[in-house]
Amino acid sequence: MNIILLGPPGSGKGTQGELLAQRTGILRVSTGDLLREAVARGTDLGKRAKVFMDQGLLVPDDVIIGLLGEVLASPGAAGGVIMDGFPRTVAQAEAVDRLLAARGRQVDRVLYFVVADDELLRRIEGRAGVEGRADDNPDAFRQRLVVYRKQTQPLVDFYRQRGGLTDIDAVGAVQEIAARVRAGVGE
Ligand code: AMP
Repeated sequence: MNIILLGPPGSGKGTQGELLAQRTGILRVSTGDLLREAVARGTDLGKRAKVFMDQGLLVPDDVIIGLLGEVLASPGAAGGVIMDGFPRTVAQAEAVDRLLAARGRQVDRVLYFVVADDELLRRIEGRAGVEGRADDNPDAFRQRLVVYRKQTQPLVDFYRQRGGLTDIDAVGAVQEIAARVRAGVGE
């Protein structure tokens, strides 16, 4: 099963993606984690990505689509993937369709994590410093939210029109939300 977790920064996709991966055994892939690893290793990809990440901007589609190709071709992804933090643009969504179709697969479910902006800002203020992410300070976070609204939010309509998108009320206790996520993937 190929599942997309869609939602604003700070909506809990990472936490819920990990729980769902543990429960189902499906590989969770986070482009944010892959990029942070590349930055930490100082690879060319990491150097290119860091400039954008530090400003809360999206890393260019060509970089991400190259990364997606590698991820979806890896043996671990053969049983499907939980996509956390991608696609983030329509071009990426089309690339995901293409890459999956080349393997006779498709996007099966899209879970849209719904959280109001004021709640997101409260969460990020709590998270800053805890995970030690350079892009978790309130200014960079606000920028990420603006970028999300402009570049990623249109994917909600893209998938809603196509069918297979489920809204997840992502406010509440972690385990409550996890139960909604499980219901959303038909478990
Ligand atoms: P995340 O951990 O998903 O919040 O991602 C952290 C940062 O990595 C984002 O603010 C972007 O700069 C970059 N990033 C992660 N995933 C993508 C993506 N699919 N497309 C473009 N940039 C991304």
